[in-house]
Amino acid sequence: MNAPHRVDPVDVHAVAKPAEALFRSTFGGTADGVWAAPGRVNLIGEHVDYAGGLVLPFALPYMTVVAVRVREDGILHAVSTHTDESWRGSLADVAPGHPAGWAAYVAGVVWALHRSGHVSAGIGFDVAVHSTVPVGSGLSSSAALECAFALAVADLAGLPTDAAGRQPLVAASIRAENEIAGASTGGMDQSVAMFARPGHALLLDCRDGATRHVPLDFESAGARLVVIDTNAPHRLVDGQYGNRRATIEKACADLGVTTLRDVVDADAAVAALSSPAAARTRHVLTEIRRVTEVARLLDRGRIADVGDALTRSHASLRDDYEVSSVELDAAVDAALEAGAWGARMTGGGFGGSAIALVPADRVDAVVEGVVHRAASASLPTPQFLSAEPSGSAHRL
Ligand code: ADP
Ligand code: MG
Repeated sequence: MNAPHRVDPVDVHAVAKPAEALFRSTFGGTADGVWAAPGRVNLIGEHVDYAGGLVLPFALPYMTVVAVRVREDGILHAVSTHTDESWRGSLADVAPGHPAGWAAYVAGVVWALHRSGHVSAGIGFDVAVHSTVPVGSGLSSSAALECAFALAVADLAGLPTDAAGRQPLVAASIRAENEIAGASTGGMDQSVAMFARPGHALLLDCRDGATRHVPLDFESAGARLVVIDTNAPHRLVDGQYGNRRATIEKACADLGVTTLRDVVDADAAVAALSSPAAARTRHVLTEIRRVTEVARLLDRGRIADVGDALTRSHASLRDDYEVSSVELDAAVDAALEAGAWGARMTGGGFGGSAIALVPADRVDAVVEGVVHRAASASLPTPQFLSAEPSGSAHRL
């Protein structure tokens, strides 16, 4: 994808270099090791994680790398190429809201692993971060950072990092984000960063945490998945997210179910609710069905046929859940007009990114169409990322 507005993925060793250079210039000497974790995109299953639903994300070939060295004095010192803001403190300085800013994602991981009894209080680290995941674009740079560092801490503390050993690392990363950074997150991002498999999406059942790898090979299907980062600022996200969650919780109470996943008769449930809970509930119930539909199609290798469900997902998020934005709608409409098989907003909405499932020979047309639409509507120029399903967090 080499053209203006397009950001190609680079090899993990190239991502490591700036992290290692920052480590040397800040701390001197070399790190004990270097770890990487990927950003992700959610193919389908939006705003259903907190309803006990199904989600189908996959890891991107864009990642966050941490260069880390153990300290014996219990101090955590963290720096990043992304910001001049560094943080230096000990476990005693970590609490909800502290540290403020990006270091919460790093300090929170050590805090959570200490809370769960996995690391001792005296443990400290020098940490240097570099990332190719766009930050704040809905592609989960936050979980990539948490998970890269959680894996580093586990390796350096002698904890297991096989599939079973990664479960407490996922839990610690979620706690860091929820409790220390104070950001709501359902756990999808951390799970895919830790468990993704190349060439597959991860079907995650948010009711019980069960996972299944679903084959997803765009290339051999003559398809491409284009990620469109609208470059639009997130607006009102916190309040709207909480509002949607509260509506769904109230709907559950009114329907007498623990989660919307437990609803048996979708039409009757929607009919029993008043506006806007009825429309919100209809989104969740139809979206869960669409995830099942997409997973079945992918199991049979029918990638092109997934497009229609993606587009229906977008309409449902736009009209029933009302979490889209003018930039996301413009990107989706322009991608479809330029020949995409399907397109939808992805992530929480109100900005962030969209995805388009595109026949390989229509990628240029879709990119041009989306750029042109944004320009003619005086919207920010989007950037485009390529999205081959990639692997999970690992040590280099
Ligand atoms: P997303 O996860 O979709 O990118 P979030 O708002 O959840 O958006 O997380 C973005 C935040 O994560 C940033 O504001 C910053 O605090 C932190 N972050 C992510 N990547 C980095 C990085 N490379 N260096 C420093 N902080 C980072
Ligand atoms: Mg995030």
